[in-house]
Amino acid sequence: MAKIAFIGLGNMGGPMAANLLKAGHSVSVFDLNPAAVESLKAQGAGRGDTAQAIAADADFVVSMLPAGKHVRGLYLGTDTAKGLIEVVKAGCLLIDCSTIDAGSARTVADAAAAKGLEFIDAPVSGGTAGAAAGTLTFICGGTDAAFEKARTVLANMGVNIFHAGGPGAGQVAKICNNMLLSVLMVGTSEALSLGIDHGLDPKVLSDIMKVSSGGNWTLEKYNPCPGVMENVPSSKGYQGGFMVDLMVKDLGLSQEAALGSQSSTPMGALARSLYVSHARAGNGTRDFSSIFEHFAKGDKA
Ligand code: NAD
Repeated sequence: MAKIAFIGLGNMGGPMAANLLKAGHSVSVFDLNPAAVESLKAQGAGRGDTAQAIAADADFVVSMLPAGKHVRGLYLGTDTAKGLIEVVKAGCLLIDCSTIDAGSARTVADAAAAKGLEFIDAPVSGGTAGAAAGTLTFICGGTDAAFEKARTVLANMGVNIFHAGGPGAGQVAKICNNMLLSVLMVGTSEALSLGIDHGLDPKVLSDIMKVSSGGNWTLEKYNPCPGVMENVPSSKGYQGGFMVDLMVKDLGLSQEAALGSQSSTPMGALARSLYVSHARAGNGTRDFSSIFEHFAKGDKA
């Protein structure tokens, strides 16, 4: 069993670290939020006063932080703290599971390589439910050797583990997926609303489209119309799930990537614009399927 330093114990990182403990690893944790650390400590984790303290003798570092600036600060250092690439022992594998820009992931991977270390970007899909159940999908970027080594740890937190390519490739694949997901969610919401406006039962319409050429993941697993499916955010007041603010961040990353490569992504650009205005209307912390309300007439009809 490995010695693992886990940094970032939020909605995703908390249950992911708990699954590493359940698998029998020796896990030490750090988060800026002391309550998150205490919760993991109660489940058997060690703790330290800084990320550097717990990383110093680890075989693996796993991080799950909000955005690129946090990941760069952790691994490369800040004005007040040394980067983890300065403090970990030789052979320690650095695995970042946050969703960040591919450029930051490559910058950290290059800096790590200059110190003789390997860094893997391993963003996830599957949400908080997948994190708790240990059924996440990991989408990795890094060398073949680092990927094979990372897989032994990632398998304790997820089921599908993909190697998308070299450093940064995991992040590129992840934002491609989330851009497509946003487009499917918006399209499904407007199609359901059109049917409802013409008197159709959304459940019947969903059943029809699910097995027809418009079938997609949102109809199968995450119907945005309240009452059509049980145990999805739309039937729980759009609480839990994947926040609109995080989707806005990911759509910003996909548009930045598109600018960098001069790629044409009109659907992604429109989805970003819709999600930004949805967030500005006060929906930032609600689930991203709440975009359905943008199209639904609701009580105002
Ligand atoms: P979160 O805000 O719940 O958790 C982030 C944690 O990082 C917080 O506990 C915060 O205190 C901690 N943190 C921030 N800076 C730190 C630092 N310098 N040192 C130590 N701890 C620090 O976010 P989350 O929902 O867990 O998401 C984390 C990442 O996973 C994001 O990049 C997000 O886009 C991605 N993601 C989230 C979901 C989801 O459904 N929530 C799904 C897939 C991917």
